[in-house]
Amino acid sequence: MTNRFSGKVAIVTGSSNGIGRATAILFAKEGAKVTITGRNAQRLEETKQEILKAGIPEDHVLAIATDLATEEGQDELINETIKKFGKLDILVNNAGAAFMDDKRTSGVDQDISVFDKIMQINLRSIVTLTQKAKKYLVETKGEIVNVSSIGAGPQAQPKFIHYALSKASLDQYTRSAAIDLIQYGVRVNAVSPGVVATGFGEAMGMTREMDQKYFNFLESHKDCIPCGSIGKPIDIANIIAFLADRKLSSYIIGQSIVADGGSTLVMGMQSHNMMDILKS
Ligand code: NDP
Repeated sequence: MTNRFSGKVAIVTGSSNGIGRATAILFAKEGAKVTITGRNAQRLEETKQEILKAGIPEDHVLAIATDLATEEGQDELINETIKKFGKLDILVNNAGAAFMDDKRTSGVDQDISVFDKIMQINLRSIVTLTQKAKKYLVETKGEIVNVSSIGAGPQAQPKFIHYALSKASLDQYTRSAAIDLIQYGVRVNAVSPGVVATGFGEAMGMTREMDQKYFNFLESHKDCIPCGSIGKPIDIANIIAFLADRKLSSYIIGQSIVADGGSTLVMGMQSHNMMDILKS
């Protein structure tokens, strides 16, 4: 256990599950005081218990069960954090989700209500939460790490078109906010995960069995994941910690680090042997 975040205060959104949970636990183990948050109070408590199990003092953790899609929820998150810990050094904008419409439509016909719902949590809430956190982060010359996705492109994502739009917009937000905020000494960066085993599928209406079947397929197809394994939440948490650690990453501004086991580097045509095609 190192103490690289000792004396720092971090908010990790979406820490009642998946990548956010792993990040909050890692930050707490490395010395940070952490505000954990999500709508599901029971899962949030599980995150808290895991942090306490690691020997972290209870007064280093603040759990706030709230809906980040609302500005009231965001105000509560910032205000309660400042009230308890007195400052904010690190904001991890991780909460996010993909939704389908009732008919599980994909492509351009996907219902516009899906667009609104996805944009609300994956983009708008990050824009407004960043506005609300700005003055505190300027005071500490802090760090923001956004959690994007390889779904942002440049490859097309017709099945999850609105989700992909939200993450592509987030990438441009990361770049633009980074240049705006670096004048105050605040850094903004992002991580773009590939497929990671979390509650993401379940939140989208998939069962655990469906998730597992999908992961097994991807792992056994090198043209999907060249490294041969699905990402773990800690793989992404480690990158978030790197980007939040100024000693290690101070010269990285407005970038997104891709962590996808090689998925975005393979092209469909490479899955077929040219010589076999020519022989047939
Ligand atoms: P999980 O479903 O495991 O975690 C998502 C978290 O976001 C949960 O803690 C959930 O909390 C929270 N959240 C969702 N909606 C809201 C809301 N309205 N208000 C407050 N909290 C909310 O998924 P992941 O860990 O995978 O997702 C984390 C991030 O990673 C997301 O931004 C996702 O887009 C991104 N990502 C994930 C990938 C993957 O393959 N898993 C790939 C690429 C990117 P609760 O349900 O308690 O509200």
